[in-house]
Amino acid sequence: MEKYVLALDQGTTSSRAIIFDKSGGIHGTAQLEFTQYYPHEGWVEHDPMEILRSQKLAITAAMEQGGVTAEMISAIGITNQRETTIVWEKATGRPVYNAIVWQCRRTADICEKLIAIGLSDYVTEHTGLLIDAYFSATKIKWILDNVEGARERAEKGELLFGTIDTWLIWWLTGGKVHATDYSNASRTMLFDIDRLVWDEKIMNALGIPACMLPDARPSSGDFGVVAPGITGLESLVGIPISGVAGDQQAALFGQACFSKGQAKNTYGTGCFLMMNTGETSMRSRNGLVSTIAWGLDGKVEYALEGSVFNGGSVIKWLRDGLGLIKSAPEVNILAESVKDSGGVILVPAFTGLGAPYWDMYARGTMVGITRGTTAAHIARAVLDSIVYQVKDLISAMEDDVGFRLSELRVDGGASVSNILMQTQSDMLGVAIDRPQVVETTALGAAYLAGLAVGFWQDLEDIERNRRVERVFEPQIDAAERGRRYKEWQRAVERSRSWAR
Ligand code: ADP
Repeated sequence: MEKYVLALDQGTTSSRAIIFDKSGGIHGTAQLEFTQYYPHEGWVEHDPMEILRSQKLAITAAMEQGGVTAEMISAIGITNQRETTIVWEKATGRPVYNAIVWQCRRTADICEKLIAIGLSDYVTEHTGLLIDAYFSATKIKWILDNVEGARERAEKGELLFGTIDTWLIWWLTGGKVHATDYSNASRTMLFDIDRLVWDEKIMNALGIPACMLPDARPSSGDFGVVAPGITGLESLVGIPISGVAGDQQAALFGQACFSKGQAKNTYGTGCFLMMNTGETSMRSRNGLVSTIAWGLDGKVEYALEGSVFNGGSVIKWLRDGLGLIKSAPEVNILAESVKDSGGVILVPAFTGLGAPYWDMYARGTMVGITRGTTAAHIARAVLDSIVYQVKDLISAMEDDVGFRLSELRVDGGASVSNILMQTQSDMLGVAIDRPQVVETTALGAAYLAGLAVGFWQDLEDIERNRRVERVFEPQIDAAERGRRYKEWQRAVERSRSWAR
């Protein structure tokens, strides 16, 4: 009877549920959006109860859509927006404050203080991260400092902290299990990624009591079972929750990047690049972060991660800011109408530049414009700009790990663009591999869960499932590649320090 694994994909703007069969095929899917709160400039919050409600509704809707009943589900996997922070009452499950979302910048000053007391090197050495407001640690401190009585209550053991995975596990198990997986723990800026324990020095610096932190576990294994009495999910009682990973790590797993040196890039609003670095955690010389990919079969594997702030959003700018296209897919038609960008280079440093430049004063610039420049050249330059930024990250990664990438696996909304993928392959000089199932995030969570309960036997079992939709091979030579990349680097120089 048990033919499926249910994956919960709790993202930044929506909660999704997808049901997978043994071959990785989809048998039911549902998605519900929820409210984004922006209480102040730069602040972002979610209502944890609304997240829970939308996630539960997505589960029942996906089952209904696929005609799948609870008896057919062998396990549940969870993947989630990372770093987003919730603190709730152990006795009631009631959050003491809204969820503080990863994008929220309210704790930038707390981060500056940590840097001022000289913790930067320590944090990187132990957590693999750079001190930044994105990560959960300073968000917990903010809640303990700003919600009346919260710190005393936390110290008495009355409050619990969790990222979204932990929040969902806690509720689904009826408060029995307070746990997270290593990949999510590694994004809190509180977790020692080599010793696999919460770091006391950072906890002390922020006044975060150990008793509020979840138990950190391998990503594939026991996270409890669905408890009786959960409204809407009564039929799911007893189904094990057996796979958990943060969204980018889940995508890396869903892309079957199981070996050292394999990498995936997600082309969404931003781009998220992740490379498996095997059983050793690296420290980047180029401003990338080091993170736990997953814990599986008694081993922990690590990854290097880098992100491009403006990826698909540059296409949206072409549509909404410049009005040169009416829909995102039109960018491809316009860009394909010319053989290249005619010398135009766009550096979309709209919000500064991330790795490997880390220049928050950089601003967007377009160079090489002549009387012959047309909208089509600009469209082409928009796609090129995504390609070059990914190339920058991959060059940084290659420098860190000391070997060349052999291929890049892709997913995300903009990965459907053939011209974008071809240009990416040309610029990297490696093959780009686009799979048939682009729901790699949910698939990764399903795989982690299914492996733990024997639904899938081993990694080979999963690798066999992966179906390539199309491979793009480089069509330009190394000299041409080098020449174009130098032009990009010259253009980047023009954009730097502009807003200082
Ligand atoms: P996110 O999860 O960050 O919201 P998605 O993975 O849904 O992002 O990808 C959305 C992005 O993909 C948008 O920024 C859009 O510009 C881009 N996009 C969507 N369709 C296409 C297409 N056919 N060609 C190129 N880009 C596209």
